[in-house]
Amino acid sequence: MAATPETVRRLAARGCTLLVERGAGAASGYDDADYSEAGAELIDAAGSDHWSGTDVVLAVQGADLAQQRAELAALRPGALLLGLLEPHGNDALKQQLEQRGLSAMALELLPRISRAQSMDVLSSQANIAGYKAVLLASAALDRYVPMLMTAAGTIQPARALILGAGVAGLQALATARRLGAVVYVSDVRPAAKEQVESLGGRFIDPPQLEEQPGEAGGYAKQATEDFLAAQRRQLTEQLALADMVICTAQVPGRQAPRLIDDAMLQHMRPGSVVVDLAVAQGGNCEGSCPGDTVIRHGVQLIGADALPCTVANHASALYARNVAALLEHLLAATPEQATALQLDLEDPIVAGCLFTRHASPAPAAVGGAA
Ligand code: NAD
Repeated sequence: MAATPETVRRLAARGCTLLVERGAGAASGYDDADYSEAGAELIDAAGSDHWSGTDVVLAVQGADLAQQRAELAALRPGALLLGLLEPHGNDALKQQLEQRGLSAMALELLPRISRAQSMDVLSSQANIAGYKAVLLASAALDRYVPMLMTAAGTIQPARALILGAGVAGLQALATARRLGAVVYVSDVRPAAKEQVESLGGRFIDPPQLEEQPGEAGGYAKQATEDFLAAQRRQLTEQLALADMVICTAQVPGRQAPRLIDDAMLQHMRPGSVVVDLAVAQGGNCEGSCPGDTVIRHGVQLIGADALPCTVANHASALYARNVAALLEHLLAATPEQATALQLDLEDPIVAGCLFTRHASPAPAAVGGAA
């Protein structure tokens, strides 16, 4: 949910009028009555009456909204759509929004700079995914996770292997450590080593080839096929020792690197579990299916493509706070007497995530949450 009663109150205090679709918060545990009490006006989902007077639409899956909701056509030129727009290579959506004269901000493109941290939707949702992936793996595993000393003898701690030490990977590391696992982590960015070790993980240095993938803006660059082949050889041994593997390795706008192939799965212990968080981008593990669990060579492959939805209340609470922080940032840059929301292209936050821009900016009253 793109707004919660808490953020409705926050934005109402800034002078915004908030319209919330009836029942929109139900799946995340937020009642219509709480939105009303916070100052929102409840509207029916069907019908375009309210859309024509709306200046900003706050959405979660903004790309789906643009494609599936006819009401979007009722928005006036210059209105702003704010949400996850799957912007990489999505020329069709860009064209569609431009034809309608809409401005749109894709939250995936928000720059990873310190002053944008409070608006960083990818981080807040990846954190949830990393946490939940370890819980899923632990529940599916045929072993204990912590070391236990029982009357029947000692149980050794489970061994977790985490591929990718970005936001999801580091949270997976922290969660697995809290459960008592011994955790190994692989990443191609040298900066990840210190972060992994500070959380009690053991870092697997990337293969020492002349050609390293490198990084840009904190993200890994795409690795060559030779590098990935060397990485797979290196990881084969680690996989054979692992009880759970959490795959989080990604390169923005690209297919996820293939780090586990079928032959490597054959070397894993039957009963072990792989959770592939990169499954929607093609997967780090061969054979993983989005939203499904399959068994290959006795190993459970969990294709976890939408884990934040399984922690819906907190996922919404954090997403809505991120969105509110961005909107407050835009409002702060808009002079009080202005009749339109200002989108300052000199501002790296605005310039970073502006996906489409209508020449005349959106009027200043703000509303709409889907
Ligand atoms: P991401 O989801 O794009 O990728 C996840 C991880 O996969 C990355 O650490 C990446 O290096 C790794 N990876 C890519 N190819 C790999 C391979 N072949 N083998 C192993 N690992 C591979 O990343 P993310 O979680 O969005 O984070 C990207 C970076 O941004 C991180 O450095 C993170 O600390 C940083 N960050 C900064 C801020 C901020 O300063 N505001 C906020 C959030 C994240």
